[in-house]
Amino acid sequence: MAEPPTTKTKNSTFSTAALAAKKQTAFDSMMNASKRKDLTAESPQPRKKSTYQVSWRKLLGDAIDHPERDSRVFYYDDDFSFVYDKYPKASVHFLLLPRDKKLSMAHPLEALKDPIFLAKVRVAAAKLKASAAKELQRRFAKFSKQEKRRLDILNGVLELDDDEGLPGSRDWEKGIRVGVHTHPSMEHMHIHVISKDMFSGYLKHRKHYNSFHSRFFVNLEEFPLGEDGENKRKREIWHWPDVDMICWRCGKNFKNKFTQLKIHLDEEFDEWKAE
Ligand SMILES: [Zn+2]
Ligand SMILES: [Zn+2]
Repeated sequence: MAEPPTTKTKNSTFSTAALAAKKQTAFDSMMNASKRKDLTAESPQPRKKSTYQVSWRKLLGDAIDHPERDSRVFYYDDDFSFVYDKYPKASVHFLLLPRDKKLSMAHPLEALKDPIFLAKVRVAAAKLKASAAKELQRRFAKFSKQEKRRLDILNGVLELDDDEGLPGSRDWEKGIRVGVHTHPSMEHMHIHVISKDMFSGYLKHRKHYNSFHSRFFVNLEEFPLGEDGENKRKREIWHWPDVDMICWRCGKNFKNKFTQLKIHLDEEFDEWKAE
C-alpha cells in the first residue's frame, strides 16, 4: 500500500491535558489534510468491486497493526486507530478500531462491559464525533438555515449589530450517531461514528439500512447494558434484517420497500441539511 501523503503523529496515552491538546491539533490538521484528499464528493459512490472487495478484513488488520502505513487511517495512538469506513453508508462514516489484539477479537457487547475500556472508548469516540460533526458543517453549512446569519456575517454580506456577538453555529453533533452492532459481520471490533442521513451509493439493501437504524445498532450511550439489557438485545436480533425499515427522520414505516425508502432518504437529506 502506498505511503500516505500526510505525516502521522504517534502519542501514547489520553492522560494529560497537554498531550490531549497536542493531539487535538495534530488530529485537526490531519482531518484538514484528509478532507482535501478524500471527503469532497457529496454522496459516497461505490468503486469497482475488484479494487476493494478482497481486502477489507485485511485492511482492518493493517489499520491496527501498521496504522502508519495505512492510508485509511487518519489518526492513531496506542489504543485506537481512526479510519474512514471503506464502504460508507452515510455522508460521513468513520470507524474507531481498538488496537489491542484481545479487544479487537472480542464481541463489542462483551468488550464494552469493561468500565475502563468503555471509558477509553467514550473519550476517543467523542473526538471522532466532533470531527465528524465538523465534516458535516464544512460540507453542508451552506444549505443550513441555522448557519445562514453566521455565514452571511463571516462572508461580509451582513454586518453585526453593535451589541451583537457572532451567532453560534448549528449543533452538527446531533446529526451523528456512535455505536456498535449486536452481531457484527467483521472480524475486528469496530465502533461506528456515522451521520444519520444514510445518504450513500453504498446503501443498497434493507440490511444496510437496518444495520444502523434498528435495534441491531446499540448506541454507545446505552452502555453499560447490564445483564438484562444485553440478553434482551441478543434475543431481539435473530430476525433483525427483516424488520421494517423506519425513516430515521420522520418515523415513516417503509416496511420492506427499499427503493421507496431510498427516494425518501434523498428528500429527507435535503430537508435535514436545510434545517
Ligand atoms: Zn459494523
Ligand atoms: Zn422521513
